[in-house]
Amino acid sequence: HVKKEQRGRIYFYNDHLNSRVMERMQLERELQQALDKGELELFYQPKIDIASDRIAGLEALIRWRHPQRGLLRSGAFIDDAIEAELVAKVGDWVIAAACTQLRRWQDAGLEFYEMPLAVNIAIPQINPDLPSYINQELQRTGLHPSYLQLEITESLLIRDLDRVAHILQEISHTGVTIAIDDFGTGYSSLSRLKALPIDILKIDQSFVRNLELDRNDSAIIAAIVNMAHALDLKVVAEGVETEAQLNILRELQCDEHQGYLYSEPLNAHDMTVLLKRKQRRLRSIPASRALTA
Ligand code: C2E
Ligand code: MG
Ligand code: MG
Ligand code: MG
Repeated sequence: HVKKEQRGRIYFYNDHLNSRVMERMQLERELQQALDKGELELFYQPKIDIASDRIAGLEALIRWRHPQRGLLRSGAFIDDAIEAELVAKVGDWVIAAACTQLRRWQDAGLEFYEMPLAVNIAIPQINPDLPSYINQELQRTGLHPSYLQLEITESLLIRDLDRVAHILQEISHTGVTIAIDDFGTGYSSLSRLKALPIDILKIDQSFVRNLELDRNDSAIIAAIVNMAHALDLKVVAEGVETEAQLNILRELQCDEHQGYLYSEPLNAHDMTVLLKRKQRRLRSIPASRALTA
């Protein structure tokens, strides 16, 4: 028997590795090649300020143009079972690609109001080299740190909170903002998360999905919003697909919404088109009314 410990999980195998592990190793080899061959791509999904109905930020979501399997969403290949070093390499690529793209949008004059770009960060990526890597990329692209945001999934965070906390503090001090993703799925409490320099809570889509039907979900969201606002945090609802959901979120004083209702994640070209269209609309209204456009 072989016992292999991998970040808190222990697997037992017999003489031969089971097929799941083989698949995983194959995937890792392919992903490494994808990185080298430039098959990875970022898509972008807007977050909308509920009060003003304006784009308040963007989130980068990784995709893999797989030569055989087509366009793969992140869920199919970014997973915390993938080798830590590879996850960190992919993560570094994401940060560099996101900064490059935001610079392009700013150069094209499409940065017409404060619009930070968020990247998702995997736990193995939060290592002592991360703060200096982020600084390096911000300097390379000439972006102010406040334009970069990190999203960290709550459920992955709670295993490793102490190790992660001071690295995030270092990053946060430079002006990069930090969001807790999938909030509500991690069985943690904000009192535990308070070790972290958090700016934003993103409410997990599972609380939004049945919002129209399930009073428990609206009660949970109301509680999260109240607590977050008392702590001076902004609240984003994820996975918003209907006007009815949005109306409830507005009543519950949620700050931003994100989901298919406003836009699916778009490739860089399609997002550029969307930003240009929004910018034209903003310019066509008198300045006095632009705030509510
Ligand atoms: P997430 O950060 O919570 O992202 C939200 C996921 O929900 C995305 O799936 C997005 O495409 C999807 N989504 C957005 N709006 C809606 C909606 O209205 N309805 C529904 N049903 N789904 C919606 P995606 O892109 O497959 O990403 C899945 C997860 O993979 C992300 O969850 C994030 O945790 C992770 N991920 C994505 N990109 C990266 C990355 O570059 N690095 C790392 N480490 N993780 C990433
Ligand atoms: Mg996210
Ligand atoms: Mg999420
Ligand atoms: Mg997630």
